[in-house]
Amino acid sequence: MTNSLVTVAYIAASALFILSLAGLSNQETARKGNVYGILGMVIALGATALSAEVTSYSTLLAVVVPGAILGAIVASRVAMTSMPELVAILHSFVGLAAVLVGIANYLQPESGLSGAEESIHHIEIYLGVFIGAITFTGSIVAFGKLRAIISSKPLMLPARHGLNIAMLVGSVVLGAQFMRATGTSGLQPLLIMTGIASLLGIHLVAAIGGADMPVVISMLNSYSGWAAAAAGFMLGNDLLIITGALVGSSGAILSYIMCKAMNRGFISVILGGFGTGTATSKPKDGSEPVGEATPIDVDETVELLRNAKSVIIAPGYGMAVAQAQHAVAQITKILRDCGTNVRFGIHPVAGRLPGHMNVLLAEANVPYDIVLEMDEINEDFTETDLVLVIGANDTVNPSALDDPSSPIAGMPVLEVWNAENVVVMKRSMASGYAGVDNPLFYKDNTQMLFGDARQNVDAILGQLAALSSKSGAVLTSTR
Ligand code: NDP
Repeated sequence: MTNSLVTVAYIAASALFILSLAGLSNQETARKGNVYGILGMVIALGATALSAEVTSYSTLLAVVVPGAILGAIVASRVAMTSMPELVAILHSFVGLAAVLVGIANYLQPESGLSGAEESIHHIEIYLGVFIGAITFTGSIVAFGKLRAIISSKPLMLPARHGLNIAMLVGSVVLGAQFMRATGTSGLQPLLIMTGIASLLGIHLVAAIGGADMPVVISMLNSYSGWAAAAAGFMLGNDLLIITGALVGSSGAILSYIMCKAMNRGFISVILGGFGTGTATSKPKDGSEPVGEATPIDVDETVELLRNAKSVIIAPGYGMAVAQAQHAVAQITKILRDCGTNVRFGIHPVAGRLPGHMNVLLAEANVPYDIVLEMDEINEDFTETDLVLVIGANDTVNPSALDDPSSPIAGMPVLEVWNAENVVVMKRSMASGYAGVDNPLFYKDNTQMLFGDARQNVDAILGQLAALSSKSGAVLTSTR
């Protein structure tokens, strides 16, 4: 393939990637967005493979074919709830690739560059390896936290900010040495910096607490984009630069949006929780939430549903684990057919990845117009008869608003407790991802429906379906 044809193919692929991002920004066009992305990637891979730079197909096939097979197997088997872990580990691969490409590029004997061009190339290498190493180890720690191999509690080393600054300063000093080195004698400072940046990646992500993990994931997504863009500069590959910049900037915008939604400082989160103090998972005075949780059974929940004119469902991670979304969608349909106003309240960080709940509800064919964002629905709880909290915990925790010492203090939450009745479906009194007690469970208007969400939702659906087939309507005359 001639160089100009490759350039045309790269432009087409870049346009498809931009269309893909535009498509993915809306649920209704997301499918189309995916198709554009796949098309763009096929063109990009095909054009690169056929370009004059590829001289040996045996090496290319030996790495691409097993990689593609492995990727296809892993992606097709991954459960929706494990998706963030997969994304985190894939980010780490991008980071590692940037490190390896950078080092290999530096060791390449005849780069043919001199003077200012060579200096710029060395800066590209140094920055690419630095960002790549942070992304690599940071993503592995994020993977460990999401998979619960590593505790989700923030690691609070003494003088942790000083440590971060020292590592940054060390990297800058080594960078100056690297730039002064001739030939390949800068390898030593480059490798030492790689080690320091790897430690920095571990430390930055380890210092971030459970509830802030969504921002970390999108930040690492952004870093992986910049690492790819840096690799593009090193290799002189325009498509990699464009794609990396698209991923890097969209990840940064997503992180900013999430920070705003969670009332967190963008800079404070990326600097490993700078300025967040040492919040604890228990209230400062050592007190636990007071009162006794009131259990409820399926029959009583069905009764509450039949008597409610307005119902809001607040889904969370537990609904995803239990795969209860299809039964929830059927309950919604039965109730709506009987005239109940049923809506969904979606917290921006519910579940384990951005848009997790929206994806599940779309998969279960819940109409988009009754799926509302937190900001759109939060004021309506006061006029709501019943809230069903299905496997959500941190995102409906009132201590985010009431307890300044809580790790989730200041994070906006779904104010479900303002409704007349709240039924919380979960298996136990255990805390959510952030490891914080939830006073909601002890409120007078809250009742706990213990057990697996799928089993309970199926049982509720069974009763409602039986009632509706018997009488054509499931609602009692009491409402
Ligand atoms: P949480 O993680 O706070 O709580 C989920 C609850 O679901 C648990 O308390 C658990 O209680 C319950 N549960 C688990 N399995 C089942 C089951 N089979 N049936 C019924 N209940 C079940 O969920 P939220 O969605 O409210 O909050 C998300 C949290 O995850 C936030 O802290 C957020 O910051 C964090 N996070 C979000 C990411 C994102 O991008 N959205 C990424 C990374 C982290 P029990 O064990 O008692 O059943």
